[in-house]
Amino acid sequence: TKITQYIEQAKGKTLFSIEIIPPVKGENIQSLMSNIEPLMEFKPPFIEVTYHREEFLEKIVNGKIERIPIRKRPGTVGICASLMNRFKVDAVPHVICGGFTKEETEDFLFDLHYLGIDNVLVLRGDPVKGNAAFTPEKGGHAYASELLEQVVKMNQGVLLHEETQSAPTNFCIGVAGYPEKHFEAPNFSTDFAYLKKKVELGADYIVTQMFFDNQKYFDFVAKCRAAGITVPIIPGLKPLATKKQLTVLPRIFHLDLPEDLVKAVESCKTDKEVKQVGVEWCIAQCKELMAFEAPILHFYTMSKSESTKKIAEAIF
Ligand code: FAD
Repeated sequence: TKITQYIEQAKGKTLFSIEIIPPVKGENIQSLMSNIEPLMEFKPPFIEVTYHREEFLEKIVNGKIERIPIRKRPGTVGICASLMNRFKVDAVPHVICGGFTKEETEDFLFDLHYLGIDNVLVLRGDPVKGNAAFTPEKGGHAYASELLEQVVKMNQGVLLHEETQSAPTNFCIGVAGYPEKHFEAPNFSTDFAYLKKKVELGADYIVTQMFFDNQKYFDFVAKCRAAGITVPIIPGLKPLATKKQLTVLPRIFHLDLPEDLVKAVESCKTDKEVKQVGVEWCIAQCKELMAFEAPILHFYTMSKSESTKKIAEAIF
């Protein structure tokens, strides 16, 4: 089922969904499943699964430095299949530009199609670890909008090379949106224009970067609607859990944390107290977002359920 259909069927009732991250190589799929199982009682119609490109290991081989591509968290597709099988939910893999040629992307999308996956979140992907900027793969895409165009074409039955052909796929396509601007964009308006382009090219829904101040989301939605962007805008949420995140989250995700939240966290003596503050803050955010009729509350869980469960219990 398409995410847009779930939203239509809900008729204004706010739904619950989660994003999980594949475990590092060697970890057990069972522990991933049992970590997220406590959240299934809140009936997420879908679970998003992140995709992680390779990192490069530098080794001296025969006197020369070789860069060996190593993936720490493979398994996105396998985990999607397991989730669908085990929980009967829709799994939504993230599909990225980085590390893929267009042909590899085409094959990857066919794998997803054959698995019965109906939705994909298309992204550019983060730069390779240690690199300041994103470098596109030779023969790959430089921006999410280009990848999106490829998926749209496949949905029309048009493949990369005329010599090959296929029946159309039917993916519902999500893209990322940044209420507080993408970190590389020179200003909000430039970034926003590229978001609008993604929607004009065929994106069916937007998932936002996490935010801790709902006003950022409300303003973002207002700007989208004023610009003629009518697709659902799904707010991304993360309950703050450690004091360290006060500096880590702004650095990694380029967002502002509200002063009141920072003060409350700073006055905590233990991580348990911080978690409680994070949960309460997120519950307040969720209640306001539900009153605003946000289509879905989408939680970045990092494959852990404790805080998200407390929040879901309080609001659903
Ligand atoms: P784009 O939309 O391509 O934008 C990237 C930058 O380029 C922006 O600054 C934009 O303004 C600019 N831009 C866009 N088009 C053009 C153009 N034509 N010309 C010039 N500039 C342009 N990363 C992962 O690696 N794996 C994941 O699973 C993952 N999941 C994510 C899920 C969500 C909900 C979000 C919000 C992010 C996720 N990310 C993930 C991170 C994401 O890949 C990075 O934020 C990345 O830096 C940008 O991706 P994008 O799809 O927004 O890129």
